[in-house]
Amino acid sequence: MGNSLELGILRIIVNSYMYDKIDRIINEILLIQKGEPFFSALEKRISKLAGVEGERKEKGPKVEKVEISSKESLMRMLESEILECKKCPLHLRRTNAVPGTGNYNAKLMIIGEGPGRDEDIQGKPFVGKAGKLLTQLLSEIGISREEVYITNVVKCRPPDNRVPEESEIEACRDYLRRQIEIINPKIILLLGSTALKAVIGEKSITKVRGEEIEIDGIIYLPTFHPAAVLRDESNKLPQIREDFRKLKELYEKLA
Ligand code: URA
Ligand code: SF4
Repeated sequence: MGNSLELGILRIIVNSYMYDKIDRIINEILLIQKGEPFFSALEKRISKLAGVEGERKEKGPKVEKVEISSKESLMRMLESEILECKKCPLHLRRTNAVPGTGNYNAKLMIIGEGPGRDEDIQGKPFVGKAGKLLTQLLSEIGISREEVYITNVVKCRPPDNRVPEESEIEACRDYLRRQIEIINPKIILLLGSTALKAVIGEKSITKVRGEEIEIDGIIYLPTFHPAAVLRDESNKLPQIREDFRKLKELYEKLA
């Protein structure tokens, strides 16, 4: 990376327009060594830079307003990494990878299984039928989609909406881990057994649904997947509503 001509030229152009914040970022890119994993190296450098900017801002009027929050830049970078990912065969048939959407400062994170057809087309999670039910259940307890962060265990659509394979979940696991780490939510709602198994290793959703499970300061609340509810509304709709009431109680306690 060190001597990249294109970055050098870009830097001169940027310099001439005195976009010094961008210039500082380019500087960091130029410092990345050959062989270093590019995105994680960049992540580290930009978060350091954002930290430095934050510090400078507090010290006085000399420094302009800081627009890069480290959380936001980390999440944006992670999302763009996911959009280009080819770590498992699910990339072959996707229209779009679906990293996740919502509030990077969310107290509540919601994790589903994997994108379906509508999500694959739009590049956003939970926008099809199951998504509409999720949005409705959230609004019934006074939570908007904008205040939470929503994602899935795998970020690319499994063909015919089949359950993702163990190897695909493994390949994608680090993205979810990093999303949880950056957002640092207080509560994680796990939708369905794939999310339950992938995140906390428990297999039976019927056994643990509606139970608060606290691990390392995060409360995990497993419930049914909304698509499963749509297949068996008379049984499961009252139960998922019960779980969402529990979610409401937990969420209100945080305020
Ligand atoms: N089902 C999921 O698990 N995730 C989505 O994003 C949509 C449907
Ligand atoms: Fe990469 Fe995950 Fe998509 Fe597989 S499912 S290609 S690991 S983003």
